[in-house]
Amino acid sequence: MGKAVHFFWRTRVEQNIDLFGVENDFPAEHRTMAESLRKYLCAHILPKAAEWDRKEKSVPISVLRELIAATGLTGVGFSGVYGGHEFPGMDYLMKGVIMREIEAVDSGLRSIFSVQNSLVMMPIYWYGTEEQKHEWLPKLATFTAVGAYGQTEPNAGSDPGSMTTRAIQDGDAYVLNGSKAWITNAPIAHIFVVWAKDADGRIGAYLVERNTPGFTVTRETKWSLRLSSTGHLAFADCRIPLANKLPGAKGLGSAFKCLNEARYGIAWGSVGALRSCIEEVVPYSTTRTQFGKPLAAHDTQRAKIAEAVADYNQLLLLVREVARTADREGSLVPIHHLVSMAKWQASEKALTHAERLMLILGGNHCTFDYHTARHARNLHVVWTYEGTGDIHRKLLAERITGYPAFPRD
Ligand SMILES: Cc1cc2nc3c(=O)[nH]c(=O)nc-3n(C[C@H](O)[C@H](O)[C@H](O)COP(=O)(O)OP(=O)(O)OC[C@H]3O[C@@H](n4cnc5c(N)ncnc54)[C@H](O)[C@@H]3O)c2cc1C
Repeated sequence: MGKAVHFFWRTRVEQNIDLFGVENDFPAEHRTMAESLRKYLCAHILPKAAEWDRKEKSVPISVLRELIAATGLTGVGFSGVYGGHEFPGMDYLMKGVIMREIEAVDSGLRSIFSVQNSLVMMPIYWYGTEEQKHEWLPKLATFTAVGAYGQTEPNAGSDPGSMTTRAIQDGDAYVLNGSKAWITNAPIAHIFVVWAKDADGRIGAYLVERNTPGFTVTRETKWSLRLSSTGHLAFADCRIPLANKLPGAKGLGSAFKCLNEARYGIAWGSVGALRSCIEEVVPYSTTRTQFGKPLAAHDTQRAKIAEAVADYNQLLLLVREVARTADREGSLVPIHHLVSMAKWQASEKALTHAERLMLILGGNHCTFDYHTARHARNLHVVWTYEGTGDIHRKLLAERITGYPAFPRD
C-alpha cells in the first residue's frame, strides 16, 4: 500500500521548477540561446567540471575559444566594429540568460566570462582610446587574449578607496608600485586593467601587459571557484607607456560602473547555480529510500526542497525584472541599487540553499560525482566578491534611510 502511494505521488512530481513560467515568457531568441547554450555546456564542459575542480585546473583557453566559436558569444554588452571584428550588441535579458546558463555549470567558468566581458572589455570600451579598443577588443572577444581586473589589494578589499598602488608619471612612462590580491584570471591573463592612484591620489585605470619588467604574478590556491585561476600581482618600479592609461577612467565611480555590469551577471549566474542544485537533488530525493520511503517523503528533507524552489522562483522574477528595467533604461547605471540588491539576494540565497540541499545527498555530497557541493563551495566566493552581502545591505539601507553606509571625508 505504502509503495503504491509513493509511486502515485512520484508520477505527479512537477519537473518544471519555473513555477511562474518565466522562461516561456522570454522572447524566442532568448529561449533558443538558453537551450542551445545549455546543450553545448552539458555536452562539452559539464562532464569535465568535476575533474577540473578536483585538480584546481582553470578551464583551458582552448575550451573557452571553442565555446565562443560554437555559440557565437562575442563581446556581450556593446555594438560596433573594432579591429575588423563586429560586435552585434545584445540586450540585458540576453546577457543575463547567458550568464545563468554558464554558471549553471560552474561559477568559476562564469567568473572567467564576467571578468573578460564586464571588467576588462567594458572599461576598455568605455574609457579607452580608439587605438586601445581596436587593439584589444577583438582579441578579448575571441579569447585570443585573456584579461584580468586588478582592483583589490591585500589591505583594500571592501574599501577600494584605500588602495595604495601608485602609478606615477616619470618622463615617457607611468611607474607602478604596489600589489593586488585575489585577481581572477591572473595566472592565464595577457592583459591587466590595473586601478591605481596618481601623484595627487586620483584613481585611474592602466593597461599592463604580462611580462612587463617589474610586474610579477603569483598563483593563489583556493578551495572555491577552482575552475577559474586566481593570482596576486606585484609591481616594483614597473614602467608602462603613457599610451597605456585608459584616459576616460576617472575615480572610483568609473570602476563601479564596470562592477555594476559584473554584479548584474553574478545575480543571474547565482540563479543558474541554484537551479542546478535543485535539479540534481530533487531526483536524488525521490529515488533514494531510507526508513522505507524516499527522502523526498521525509518532512525535513522536503522542506529544504520547497524552500529552495520558493526562493529560486522569487530570484528568477527579480533578475527578470532587473533585466526588463535595464532594457527599458538602456543602461544599468540608473538602476545600480537594483543591481546591488539582486547581486546580494541571489548570491546569498543561492549559497544558503546550496548548502542545505547538499545535505540531502548525505555522504554522497562530498564525492566528485555530484555537483551541488561544488556549487556551494563556489557560492561562498560569489557572495564575497564584487561587494560582500554585508556591503550591499549597507548600500540599500543608506538609500532607504539616508544614513551613510560608510564613513566619508
Ligand atoms: C576567488 C576570488 C576572486 C576574486 N576576483 C577578483 C578580481 O578579479 N579582481 C579584484 O579586484 N578583486 C577580486 N576579488 C576580491 C574581492 O572583491 C574581495 O575579496 C572582496 O571585495 C572583499 O574584500 P576582502 O576580501 O578584503 O574582505 P574585507 O573587506 O576585509 O571584509 C571582511 C569581512 O568584513 C566585512 N566588512 C567589511 N567592511 C565592512 C563594513 N563597513 N561593515 C560591515 N562589514 C564589513 C565583509 O563583509 C567581510 O565579511 C576576488 C576574491 C576572491 C576570493
